[in-house]
Amino acid sequence: VREKRKTTRDKISASKHIPDNLLPKVAIIGRPNVGKSALFNRLVGGNRAIVVDEPGVTRDRLYGRSYWGNQEFMVIDTGGVITLSKSQAGVMEELAVTTTVGMDGIPLATREAAIARMPSMIEKQAVAAVEEAAVILFIVDGQAEWYENIFQAGLVAADIEISDWLRRNYADKFAPLPISAITGTGTGELLDLVCSELTKFEGLDGFEEEKSDVPAIAIVGRPNVGKSSILNALVGEDRTIVSPVSGTTRDAIDTEFTTADGQKYKLIDTAGIRRRAAVAAAGSTTESLSVKRAFRAIRRSDVVALVIEALSCITEQDYKIAERIEKEGKACVIVVNKWDTIPNKNHQSTTFYEQDVREKLRILDWAPIVYCSATNGTSLEKIISAAALVEKERSRRLGTSILNQVVREAIAFKPPPRTRGGKRGRVYYTTQAAVGPPTFVFFVNDAKLFPETYRRYMEKKLRTDAGYPGTPIRLLWRSRR
Ligand code: GDP
Repeated sequence: VREKRKTTRDKISASKHIPDNLLPKVAIIGRPNVGKSALFNRLVGGNRAIVVDEPGVTRDRLYGRSYWGNQEFMVIDTGGVITLSKSQAGVMEELAVTTTVGMDGIPLATREAAIARMPSMIEKQAVAAVEEAAVILFIVDGQAEWYENIFQAGLVAADIEISDWLRRNYADKFAPLPISAITGTGTGELLDLVCSELTKFEGLDGFEEEKSDVPAIAIVGRPNVGKSSILNALVGEDRTIVSPVSGTTRDAIDTEFTTADGQKYKLIDTAGIRRRAAVAAAGSTTESLSVKRAFRAIRRSDVVALVIEALSCITEQDYKIAERIEKEGKACVIVVNKWDTIPNKNHQSTTFYEQDVREKLRILDWAPIVYCSATNGTSLEKIISAAALVEKERSRRLGTSILNQVVREAIAFKPPPRTRGGKRGRVYYTTQAAVGPPTFVFFVNDAKLFPETYRRYMEKKLRTDAGYPGTPIRLLWRSRR
């Protein structure tokens, strides 16, 4: 193992240096005293670092770089207590109040909402860590006494609460592994598993395009909006159900689907199981169940077809789903189904309708809208062609020179504001660091000199000049000292 690590280090130091904030993240969570910090120390060794100059980082999370094989990643310890110097604390306090978007591009308001749902044993910073992690290491105490006391409520109640919460909100796959953070037993296997998950996200340099085989389209929406009808109309009789991956729990049915021009897609249908699940879980409301199911389907998808019903209003549920699509960085097509039920349609009423949808789902203002009727079969093919388009946009790369030209022009048109002290933000250069969703890194003199309004202006400019319809985009601002 030591040999492997050594050669890997040489390889990595020779390779392109990946900035901390672009590395995939692995969060260590669990109730107090289960050994989170011991594992963190084993994984990051001397690479412990506190990231203080990034917005949205709370003082209680420790970050450290680690690697295994040819995979680099950032480990987050949620149990760390850091004593900050007064000036460090001041900087972080300031960042916390001046920014509305976290280091991963997740709006803090969304994170607040997640925090509101957290179990009592979990600290706020653990929620934030889980929210930004690609892989979660959920640690429980495996000592013998633990097994003897397993039936004593209280000792493991916290573990169960946390695992339930993870299962409900985040994890679609659990793999148990016995390890010892102190002796290192099992940590190799753990890292193998972590890296096999991470490589699904990105390659060695972290900047590779997602190696998706068949693009997955999730069909989500409230009950009765017509999801099943759309799916059935699209795939008809010859649906081939993709069997669930063994060892995973799936609450949606995946169907493979080939378009007339031979392009393959996987459709994730969250509707089919609804009735059965609703019966099984009598007591929970169908609405909230369907939102959770939608969340899980969104996580597995590349594109989300958010189905709404022409005649009914956009509800809180629709909004929650929309928010999650944006947050997860998935491409999206808004599908207005049952368009046949709107009487006397003309151009004006369609425009009016569109304005209403745009107003209520502003968070998805970049998503195309398709009006269709599953019953009449009208415009259903548009769902697929729109999904194909937005899926391409989500993995599109913009050339560096074009990108920097767009940014230069945007700055010339409207420079960043000057501070009272006369300081002004400067962009050295911009690069597209990732796809799925397209992520642009702005290397600047001081990220704090770019207020939220200016960041939004830049995003808007990028969209008008470089496109990216149907996909969220991320702008990351990095200070270079
Ligand atoms: P799901 O719960 O979202 O899967 O919705 P279903 O596909 O089960 O549809 C709910 C109801 O809406 C059924 O009675 C369908 O016949 C009806 N429906 C679905 N699509 C349309 C449509 O385009 N127009 C009309 N008028 N009714 C529809």
